[in-house]
Amino acid sequence: MSTLKEVLDQNVREGELLEKLDGDKLRCTACGHCCPIPEGRPGVCHIRYNRGGKLYVPWGYVSGLQCDPIEKKPFFHAYPGGLAYSFGMLGCDLHCAYCQNWVTSQALRDPTAVAPPRRTNPEAMVRDALEQGARAVVSTYNEPLITSEWAVAIFKEARGAGLSTGYVSNGNATPQVLEYLQPWLDLFKVDLKSFNPASYRKLGAQIQPILDSIRRIYDMGFWMEIVTLVVPGFNDSDEELKHIADFLVEISPDIPWHVTAFHKDYKMTGPPNTDVQTLSRASEIGKKSGLRYVYAGNIRGRVDDLENTRCPSCEDLIIERRGFMVENYRLTADGTCPSCHTAIAGRWDSKFAGQRTSHPFRI
Ligand code: SF4
Repeated sequence: MSTLKEVLDQNVREGELLEKLDGDKLRCTACGHCCPIPEGRPGVCHIRYNRGGKLYVPWGYVSGLQCDPIEKKPFFHAYPGGLAYSFGMLGCDLHCAYCQNWVTSQALRDPTAVAPPRRTNPEAMVRDALEQGARAVVSTYNEPLITSEWAVAIFKEARGAGLSTGYVSNGNATPQVLEYLQPWLDLFKVDLKSFNPASYRKLGAQIQPILDSIRRIYDMGFWMEIVTLVVPGFNDSDEELKHIADFLVEISPDIPWHVTAFHKDYKMTGPPNTDVQTLSRASEIGKKSGLRYVYAGNIRGRVDDLENTRCPSCEDLIIERRGFMVENYRLTADGTCPSCHTAIAGRWDSKFAGQRTSHPFRI
């Protein structure tokens, strides 16, 4: 029987995100690691490798495929109530001990992570997305930046069919990969996991490329929402949460910030699960810093108003949610508050198409 690595080696093509170095050496520019890769070796992610002076990258398969509510990504300010046709490949450039998608993200590092790849092509995926009534196609479940060539092939097809496109990413990007994505990608969810360089090193990344990328993603006009998974004892101090919120406000107070609850997962089983009080405290910090849209997630229905969108000017309730379900939608056709006409930042359809989450999801 073939090993996972042998299977994946059959599902590659030449990559486009690279720089040539001396001899057969090259530098991959798909993520902030910018690995210099000698001939015969892979990069840190284990899935992009140099063979004969050429970069080979994943192609032609998915390891996870599911139509989710777009609120689950989470995007709260992009096409509420719509479905996100979500796909993932295998591998990640980080190795977070609390990863909630470790079965796909750590498949090449951890022999206990098993998620068999399934061959497919962009046309079949987009056909399937349309049949399922999707509003957007989203690369998620593993780190999408490291499989950007494949994502762009799918996004070109998706855009042609009138669908929006999205990334659910750790944000460890480079200027090169963002330029490459810009023509085809609409929505960017970024995990800002900490504001502490030492904590990021434990997860396998440097903080600066991530902070630089968040600024760049905003400046380049992608729609961006930020998530911080609040882990007790790791990143939940008032000081650290305030640093994150202040950093985001300085870029734009209109960036939605989702503070979400940690549940014991993968190798991180020491800290307790995040409680409602901690999420409320984090949300207060975000609001006091000046962020206009702060949400609490992963504790469905127990965070009072913190799943709802309110007008930042008159505080009228504009989108009411319970978990991922939109229960009431009052935004005007041109994306403003129905009471005071303040513009609400986001990507909105002129008409609310209704809640699609009752759709029978196929896994
Ligand atoms: S995607 Fe990132 S980790 Fe993987 S080879 Fe490229 S630079 Fe290295």
